[in-house]
Amino acid sequence: MKLVLLGAAGSGKGTLAKNIVKDFGIPQLSTGDILREIAKSNSTLGKTIASFQQSGKLVPDEITFEVLKERLSKNDCKSGYILDGYPRTLNQAQLLAKVADIDAVISIELDFDEIVKRLVSRRNCPKCGEIDNTNYEGYNGLCRKCQTLLFQRDDDKPEAIKSRLEVYKQNITPLINFYGDKVFVVSSAGTPEETYKPVKTFLEGLKK
Ligand SMILES: [Zn+2]
Repeated sequence: MKLVLLGAAGSGKGTLAKNIVKDFGIPQLSTGDILREIAKSNSTLGKTIASFQQSGKLVPDEITFEVLKERLSKNDCKSGYILDGYPRTLNQAQLLAKVADIDAVISIELDFDEIVKRLVSRRNCPKCGEIDNTNYEGYNGLCRKCQTLLFQRDDDKPEAIKSRLEVYKQNITPLINFYGDKVFVVSSAGTPEETYKPVKTFLEGLKK
């Protein structure tokens, strides 16, 4: 089962992916994670990727695609995978189509206002890496796992979120059109369980 997961940051994409991984036993692949991993290595490719990242530039599509292609050829991808955060643009989807026949695309939809609300409350722990939030009673600014003072990432501030969502909105329509009837749309306005339920039913049907 080769899946693509579409959804803006803050739409609940990560949680949904984890549920699919657990029930369907396929790996979740994030090109962001793969690139970061290679950038840490001392290889020529690693250094090239690191130089893009350090200067705040996007890694070119061709490089990301080569890296992803290599990853998809690994053994754990034999029975499928979930691509998380890729493709983000029509060009990337067209590249991907050269090497992978995607079975389904799950598109998570949530009001932008709700996304902003969720993201501005997000806080990160500098020590244990936990992603926490301010939306609970007794919030005191400390990580609930290790009691370290939490911080807010610059890209979780309202202005940054809004410009990111604008970019997402511009890119998503051509992607949805490209994948056509392979797209399964789900709303994440409810709880994570409510979001996952129809997706699970859909994927079980797909498997048969
Ligand atoms: Zn912590």
